[in-house]
Amino acid sequence: MIKTDIIIIGAGPVGLFAIFEAGLMKLRCHLIDAIPQPGGQLAEIYPKKPIYDIPGYPSVLAGELVDKLMEQAAPFKPGFTLGERADSIEKQEDGTFIVTTSKGTQHHAPVVMIAGGLGSFEPRKPLIINIADFEDKGVRYIVKDPDQFEGKDMVISGGGDSALDWAIYFAEKGSFVHLVHRSDRFRAHKDSVARAYELAANGKMQLHTFGEVKELEGNDELESVVIHTKEEKTTVKTDLWFPLFGLSPKLGPIGNWGLEIEKNAIVVDTFDYQTNLPGVFAIGDVNTYPGKLKLILCGFHEATLAVQASYKIINPDKKFTLKYTTVQGVQGFENEQPKETVTP
Ligand SMILES: Cc1cc2nc3c(=O)[nH]c(=O)nc-3n(C[C@H](O)[C@H](O)[C@H](O)COP(=O)(O)OP(=O)(O)OC[C@H]3O[C@@H](n4cnc5c(N)ncnc54)[C@H](O)[C@@H]3O)c2cc1C
Repeated sequence: MIKTDIIIIGAGPVGLFAIFEAGLMKLRCHLIDAIPQPGGQLAEIYPKKPIYDIPGYPSVLAGELVDKLMEQAAPFKPGFTLGERADSIEKQEDGTFIVTTSKGTQHHAPVVMIAGGLGSFEPRKPLIINIADFEDKGVRYIVKDPDQFEGKDMVISGGGDSALDWAIYFAEKGSFVHLVHRSDRFRAHKDSVARAYELAANGKMQLHTFGEVKELEGNDELESVVIHTKEEKTTVKTDLWFPLFGLSPKLGPIGNWGLEIEKNAIVVDTFDYQTNLPGVFAIGDVNTYPGKLKLILCGFHEATLAVQASYKIINPDKKFTLKYTTVQGVQGFENEQPKETVTP
């Protein structure tokens, strides 16, 4: 049994920042994440994209921000259970919780903080009968490591920001890109759409509007895709197709924990980001409330207030006085014995 002060479900940016805020209040955290590395969407979907709206960073690569959050949390010696999904929560008679993962690892704490973001990552997959045969053999739903595809010719499907951003990125890096969209109206930012048309005019991209990839061909690996438009079918030789239709949010098992859910998100009180289950908080993309914005910055604020409220649950008899970090500095747990105990 892993014992800690706060069990954080989700090691995305918001869960990681909660470690730091909790550490300032001498609270220890243990994080559970279904994917094998910390960073959430930043690590899984867009590690090489620059983010421009983190205060103090005019521009920071998503992967770099994850590294910095890990560095900031390090003095507080967080524990991690990675590659395991939090499957169940049980409230104990004394009000504490046990969270058990898909691999049976048990975690015990007085407070649970759900920072599960979009939940498990479920890309929206096109309905093509043999698509599963080519997954990771030419068909990729996420552009994770763009360096390996630079200069390669490819087909990208989709009309949103992700499809347009990557089509432009690769065309500018020397790839020839077929961009396929089922309409001639794109949801992406208008500057991106204008840039895509410019690249097409310069012969670096071909736009297939009112088109859909409907057939995949190849033996072991993808060899070509067939694009259907109203008038014709075009076979494009390619070993790379990115259907970028976004991620469909799936709360997964958390959806069955008795939490109040609205549109796939957990309803919280903005006083302290507590859910309808006392002692269980929800922060970051996973929660909802009037005016909610799914931004990293907003998740950081939510984490800070939720940790303050957690302190009162964990230390009901103590009063906490907020001190600026400029005054108290950052005193980590380096010289303390770890409080977490792990019993196999
Ligand atoms: C392409 C793209 C660009 C973006 N650009 C920006 C931007 O410029 N600025 C900005 O502020 N935001 C941006 N965002 C949004 C930003 O990434 C999210 O707001 C942020 O990731 C939310 O952080 P989080 O920690 O709440 O959740 P996430 O990053 O989603 O992390 C949640 C983690 O929880 C884990 N998890 C979920 N359920 C379980 C479970 N049951 N058990 C174990 N683990 C679980 C998941 O595996 C995941 O790792 C962008 C998003 C995308 C997709």
